[in-house]
Amino acid sequence: MRSAIHRYNSYGDFLRNKFGERVHKIPVNAGFTCPNRDGKITVGGCTYCNIDSFTPENTRARIPIRQQVQESIDYLKTRLKARRYIVYFQPYSNTYAPLSHLQKLYQEALDHPDIVGLSVGTRPDCMDAEKLDYFEELARDYFVTIEYGIESSSDKTLKLINRGHDFACTKQMIMETARRKEVHVCGHAIFGFPNETRERMLQTVADVSDMPIDFIKLHNLHVVRYTELARQYKEKPFPVFSFHEWVDFVSEIVEHLNPEFMIERFYGDAPKHLLIQPKWCEEKSAAEVIYAIQQRLEALDTYQGRYFSQEHKKTIAA
Ligand code: SF4
Repeated sequence: MRSAIHRYNSYGDFLRNKFGERVHKIPVNAGFTCPNRDGKITVGGCTYCNIDSFTPENTRARIPIRQQVQESIDYLKTRLKARRYIVYFQPYSNTYAPLSHLQKLYQEALDHPDIVGLSVGTRPDCMDAEKLDYFEELARDYFVTIEYGIESSSDKTLKLINRGHDFACTKQMIMETARRKEVHVCGHAIFGFPNETRERMLQTVADVSDMPIDFIKLHNLHVVRYTELARQYKEKPFPVFSFHEWVDFVSEIVEHLNPEFMIERFYGDAPKHLLIQPKWCEEKSAAEVIYAIQQRLEALDTYQGRYFSQEHKKTIAA
């Protein structure tokens, strides 16, 4: 699946090969909340989290899922002549409700002939065997992905960012999910937490590479308004990745990453009015960032998994 031009496994290419054409993701907002905000686990949420920074404008209103999906399809069809879609339950924890409620929402999202799959973003502590069994059932007919926020493999970091669960919890739920062979697992990791050294971040890469993950999203840390992290940054500014630093470091991450993973994202973005740092995430287009990373990998004549240890081979539970 790795392209000679890309030097890494591209999630977009993977979908294109699987479905024979480009597949578009449609983000929807199902109005969930999160146990890290409503007091069930903690309050205040993760220190870096401002839901508005990763909720697309057109999904914010509490409009029915069916309508959100249809409006996006109409738009993508007209603008890009799109034909196939994956519905992406994005903001908050999209499995944080009883199964009967979830089933209704997911079925509504899938009720369109052009929808080929479902992608559900959540926390590892908002999943259980009953829900996974349901996803396994759905995966017989649809391309189903569960996206877990891993963020870091350091328990110290997870505590500092008020994540509300430890790495063992993430690991256990990813293993549980991967046991359902038809269900795909996506991991989301953040690099640049102020307490983490380069070595610590690469440890997260090694730990994540050791898990049965299919797709990975690599994000540089953002400081966004109205968050605890923004307050900390104002009180005592800490370094964030500049554009060139991130291109260099994410290329290094790629070299250490499990060569079987498909890379879905290389950086994060946030609305201009909310983003405090780093500003380049708003100024650069995705194409510019990806091009710079490709150039860097090319210049180093390197590729995904170059330094991935064979000992870290994927260990899918039996
Ligand atoms: S788990 Fe997700 S939604 Fe909840 S506070 Fe953390 S980043 Fe925000």
